This record gives sequence, C-alpha cells and structure tokens, in this order.
Amino acid sequence: MNYDQARYGDDERNEPLLSEKRAAEVDPGEGSALPDELTRDSLELPAPSEPELARHYTRLSQMNWSVDSGPYPLGSCTMKYNPTFTETVAADPNAAVHPDRDPETVQGTLELLYGLQEYLADIGGMDAVTLQPPAGAAGEFTGITVAKAYHERNGNDRSEVIVPASAHGTNFATAAMAGYDVVELPSGEDGRVDVEALEAAVSDDTAALMLTNPNTVGLFERDIVEIADIVHRAGGLLYYDGANLNALLGRARPGDMGFDIMHYNVHKTFATPHGGGGPGAGPVGVVSELAEFLPRPRVREADDGDYELFDPARSIGKVHGFAGNWLVLVKAYAYIHRLGDEGLLDASAKAVLNANYLAERVAFDVPYGPFHHEFAATAGDRDAADVAKAMLDYGVHPPTTKWPEMVPEAMLTEPTEAESRASLDDLAAAFNAAAADSEGALADAPRKTAARRIDQTSAARDPRLSWHALADAGSTADE
Ligand SMILES: *Cc1c(COP(=O)(O)O)cnc(C)c1O
Repeated sequence: MNYDQARYGDDERNEPLLSEKRAAEVDPGEGSALPDELTRDSLELPAPSEPELARHYTRLSQMNWSVDSGPYPLGSCTMKYNPTFTETVAADPNAAVHPDRDPETVQGTLELLYGLQEYLADIGGMDAVTLQPPAGAAGEFTGITVAKAYHERNGNDRSEVIVPASAHGTNFATAAMAGYDVVELPSGEDGRVDVEALEAAVSDDTAALMLTNPNTVGLFERDIVEIADIVHRAGGLLYYDGANLNALLGRARPGDMGFDIMHYNVHKTFATPHGGGGPGAGPVGVVSELAEFLPRPRVREADDGDYELFDPARSIGKVHGFAGNWLVLVKAYAYIHRLGDEGLLDASAKAVLNANYLAERVAFDVPYGPFHHEFAATAGDRDAADVAKAMLDYGVHPPTTKWPEMVPEAMLTEPTEAESRASLDDLAAAFNAAAADSEGALADAPRKTAARRIDQTSAARDPRLSWHALADAGSTADE
C-alpha cells in the first residue's frame, strides 16, 4: 500500500492542480518592449513552496503505475525495466553536444551514432540504418515512404499496402498516411498469415506487406520465407515491424527472412524509456537497394578513418531534426554494448521463457501456440476489461485487453525478460485472484486505485491536457 492509499483509503483521490492550490499574481511591470497584443495585464502563476511542489509531483507519481513499482505486462508494448546505467551514461556532461557543431569536433558523437547504425544493421540483418525517426510509428512512416520512393523511382505506380488483421493500429495508419489503400489480410485458423489469402491479395498494385514476427499473439510466422517469395514475385517489398524483435535477438534476423525494410523500437528491444510524448527513437534499417532513399543525414566512416555526415543520393528528406534524438540513441547504444552478443541471446531466451512460464500458471485459456515472448489469454465469458481492472487491485498492472481481436476477450500478456521468477509468480497470482472473483466484484473493480473507472471514450476523443483546457471547460476544483 502506498502513501496515498494509506491516506485516502478506498475513496477516489484527487490531487488538486498546482494552480488550484495557491496562485500568485505576477505584476508584469511597466513598459514591455513587446507589442500590446502580445502582452497581458496580469498573470496568475502557481506559487507553491518547494516541499509543496515536491509532494505534489510525488503524489501524482504514486497515483500512476510505473515499471519501477511493479511488473507491467502490457502485451506488444514491452514495458520493461530500464537499467539506470544507461541514464548515467546519457547524463555525462560530455554527452551534451550541440547538434550544429562542426563534425570534426564531435568525432566521438559520430562514432557512437555510426556504431549504433552498425549494431542495428547487424542485429536486424539489414545493410543500412537511419537513426532519425523519433518513434516506432515514425519509423514505420519513414520506411513506407522509402518504399514509395523506391517504387516511384522504378516507374512503378503501386497503390496498396497489405496489413494483417492482427497488426498494430499504427501499421494501418502508416499505410494510409503514406497515401496507400490499406488491404486487410485475415488471419488463418492457426493465428498466422493465411498464405492462400496472401496469394489472392497480392498484385501489381502491391507496394508492400507489413508484418511483425513473432506476430501480435506471439506466434512465429513459420511460412515467412514463402510469404517473402510471394510478395517479392509480385514486385512488392516486405516491411518488418520490429516491436517484437526482443523475441528473436541473437537467434534470427528479419533480413535473413526476406524482409527489405524494418524499424526498431529501441524502447521495446533495447530498454530506452518509452516516450510518453517525450523524445524517443525508432531507427529504420533497409537492404542495400533502398539505402539511397533513407533520410538525411546519415553517418559514415570516411577513407581517412574520420566519421562524417552525408546525404543519401535520393533521400526522402528529413523526418526529424539533425541525426535524431541523440541522448535516446546513447542509451540504446550503451544497452547493446553492455549486453553484447551473449547478453542479447540471454534477453531473447528470458523473454520467451518468462512468457511461457507465466502462461502455464494463469487460470485463463491461451488459445494459440506455441508462442514466443507474449501470449494472448482469453477471459472467456468474463469481460477482459473487468479482469484487468481487478488486477489493479491485486497490485500489478494488467495486460493489454481486447486486442488482437482474433482472440475473444483477449488479454495480451508480455512479462518481458526483465522480470524475476518471484515477480512472475506475483503476476500469476493476480491473474488467478481476478479469475476467482465474482462477476459483481469484477464489475466494481478497481477499488484501490486513485481513479476508479474513467470515461475512456472522452479521455481519447476530448482530452484536456492543461489547466487552461480544464478552466475553459469550466471544470474546476469546486465542481
Ligand atoms: C509499439 C508498437 C508499434 C508502434 O511503436 P511506437 O514506438 O510505440 O510508436 C508498432 N507495432 C507494434 C506491433 C507495436 O507493439
């Protein structure tokens, strides 16, 4: 039980906004150099003391769930603990380099970026890598834009991208944003790509097939070589969504399976922080035929051994400032470097072992298998969302619910390689306690969290993310 639970018991808790706590009038003074329409007469700023401020943010953090407080088996998202040594490395004052510096004066920076490009190319079986995209989804958009540039360069006007029904929502969004018609591919009975359906779906219009392997229920696409053949024979490209790469690290490479383009979710595979809207990275790797289309600039080693920036010949342009989110890339590099080949092999082994260990211990059915680093259990005749809410009361974060849709009332569970056996046992106990709860108890959960059930539709469609927005909506503390 955390501080807030002790303090507030079972009641919903609400931490007032700073602006509601104590506001101070700030006198703007006379004679601003700014034009009148850009100035205001008064400004109400919160004026908490230091202890008030520290407690405010500490309380907010306790109202939330974090991977620092317990396991977070949110399937597909790979919410694993980030070792703090990567933070220490990134916080080194020498790592704070202005991106406009002359390359000759930042050789160490460029060497690290180059080293990360090489690591990622090696891990993925790709020939060239850009570090510029700021997230996995941005990597997808970059990769599909590269595919488009490639087809256009070859005088090929292709209009469709094929996406399996079980794919992550970002795949559909990427294809549509890049200007393609999305062709949805139904899953086969075994939960994998239906090869016959794929044969029927490909045509002269196929620009690419986007696939993740293992797929979003953790199943390895055993027919991947045949799938690659089908797509390539039709003149299309095969895109790898790297979200599940931690299942394969050191064991199998997308490039060897026939993939032409991939993104790396460094926050899922290499333990950099999940962005949460902050800086992130989603590097993209491609086979050699596509390297000339990658975003600019990239880093290379010149003949004299120096590192330099260069613009690929037919670059699609920039997808982010400079070389990408540098300090995130430092953390990814540090993690890969410290783990080394053996550590990466160990990570994939534990990711798969942990998922299989946990699945054996939960009281819910797991309809498909054998799976790798994650599994989709079904809540059966229960509502998966109710089970998830109950799990919060048992002290763990719940799995992803109701997705992918091929598993009814799915609970997509990914414990990650970072959890110990004891913590997997805690997770299983939480699943099983929720499984044993009555319908009524489930419907009433959660009882011990800061907020009970929120209005998810409004939260998604009408988010109020600042106190200005709250004030405008007339929602204040006294309501
Ligand atoms: C997380 C995820 C993405 C999107 O990646 P972000 O880095 O979160 O933008 C894409 N596909 C799958 C399968 C994912 O799990």
